[in-house]
Amino acid sequence: MLWFSLVGVVAMAWLGWRPLARRMIRWKLGPYKVTVSKTDPALPRMVPTPKKVAVIGGGLAGIAAASTLGARGYAVTMLESKHYLGGKLGSWEVELKPGSKEWVSHGFHAFFRHYYNLNRFFDSLGLRKNFRAISDYRVLRQNGGEVSFGELESTPMLNLMALRNVGMYRYAEVTKAPTRHLMTIFLEYDPVTNARLDHMSFAEFARRAEVPEQLMIAFNTFSRAFFADEELMSMAEMLKSFHTFYLGHDGGLIYDFPTKDYEETLLKPIRAHLSSLKVDLRLSTPVNTLERIEDGYVVNGERFDKVVLATDVVGANHILGKAGGLEKLHAQFSKLKPGQRYSVTRLWLDKQARQELPVFVVTEKLKVLDSITFYDRTEDESAAWVKANGGSVVELHCYAVPEGMPEEEVKALFFEELKKFLPELQGATILHQNFRIARDFTAYHVGLAADRPAVETGFPGLYCAGDWVKLDFPAMLMEAAFASGMVAANRIFAEDGLQEELVESVPLKGMLAGIPESSARKKLLGLT
Ligand SMILES: Cc1cc2nc3c(=O)[nH]c(=O)nc-3n(C[C@H](O)[C@H](O)[C@H](O)COP(=O)(O)OP(=O)(O)OC[C@H]3O[C@@H](n4cnc5c(N)ncnc54)[C@H](O)[C@@H]3O)c2cc1C
Repeated sequence: MLWFSLVGVVAMAWLGWRPLARRMIRWKLGPYKVTVSKTDPALPRMVPTPKKVAVIGGGLAGIAAASTLGARGYAVTMLESKHYLGGKLGSWEVELKPGSKEWVSHGFHAFFRHYYNLNRFFDSLGLRKNFRAISDYRVLRQNGGEVSFGELESTPMLNLMALRNVGMYRYAEVTKAPTRHLMTIFLEYDPVTNARLDHMSFAEFARRAEVPEQLMIAFNTFSRAFFADEELMSMAEMLKSFHTFYLGHDGGLIYDFPTKDYEETLLKPIRAHLSSLKVDLRLSTPVNTLERIEDGYVVNGERFDKVVLATDVVGANHILGKAGGLEKLHAQFSKLKPGQRYSVTRLWLDKQARQELPVFVVTEKLKVLDSITFYDRTEDESAAWVKANGGSVVELHCYAVPEGMPEEEVKALFFEELKKFLPELQGATILHQNFRIARDFTAYHVGLAADRPAVETGFPGLYCAGDWVKLDFPAMLMEAAFASGMVAANRIFAEDGLQEELVESVPLKGMLAGIPESSARKKLLGLT
């Protein structure tokens, strides 16, 4: 039956009956949004007597938990080790030269339209009025060419067929064995069957499937967006990411971005919102101790009824690795590990790149450079700098720094590779530079999914949130972080007999989930 519908939809698209094919797919995927919370309107919304909750970590996960709990009358204290709110979305000032300060951040972020929970929160605060849509999703090739994904058909499955139109594959390449036995797996996302592929890297899968060379450009770009080289990226995580970002909704690869600095557009209004909910925000306050006591928890020596642990993986491991009375969790948390190092550098240059490129472009990686953002065309503050000084402001990202590469080499290669991809910048001089290298991002590497902690820890009143937490629905990166914070708040509501808050997701399974696997596929994947 499923194969029948697949063949039917492909035939319809082939015959030019796209509107009908789109409607059928939308109906099948229901329509691209499902509710994953249980809202019982008979239950009260507000907590009758305020309970003290410690939210550890002030990234998106912590913000979601604190604002959801604060709105229901909980007495929330947020403890954040850095001097700014927002975690990896945080923003801070740097002095370029005496008297000249600029805001910088952890890096340009793409806010996708299917980030249902994060977008609802932003809309409730009116934050998206300062967002603009990217004009294209473009990849710069090593050979000087470019591939554009922006104008592609956005309906799932038809968007896979459309990759052929931009030269990513030929029918002959994907209909031959072994490719045809493996490629439909991207449409079959199912968390249970997926889990079997957590021990295979995406690169290994691609070798077994003989994925066409051109198509690997699109796939590798995807893999690196999760801060992992293709040899390390888990195939299970890769399938989830494809479902979440490309095949589970019809938003396509177009996303939005703020037109002013994150501090101005996001963090200042969020701080004001938390303050209106009486959240006690304590910045520059690292949590070093967490202890379970009979009627709650002690965090840095202060008693709380409940705790939401919303740090990054490094912080979670540090805190729970030695927390008192929580020995059962130690082993699980010691397996949490960050991915490879990543690096972000902002350059203030005396020259400008060509203007017809979209504000953010991805590269077909040489050694370090993964993406380029033209900041003077995204944010007003950088545009003002260019107006006053000429030149341009660009940000370069490397999502997976090669192991052992010294920082000075990363810096030098960034600039060298930038000029290779944008030859018009030959001869440019770096006037100012803000360079960062870090290792605190969640690893989506082979073999880690099974041991990933869930929101529930098994201890009453103690919950986890963050983009590293295992959820019952597909979400990744910022949306996973925000949604997990809401789920943690919902678990506290359930404990206290309160109504849950609405949490939504892209479809829980792919269009072709449930299709019986051929013996050829099982053999190729070593699943027999
Ligand atoms: C360069 C870059 C580009 C990215 N681009 C995108 C993108 O385009 N789209 C997208 O969706 N996602 C993107 N991401 C990922 C996204 O930023 C994260 O998934 C998300 O922000 C994670 O939120 P979080 O709350 O889970 O964790 P974090 O933001 O890491 O927040 C955790 C917080 O806990 C704090 N903390 C740690 N230890 C302690 C402690 N002991 N005590 C108190 N506080 C502590 C940290 O300081 C931090 O503020 C990008 C990330 C980076 C680095």
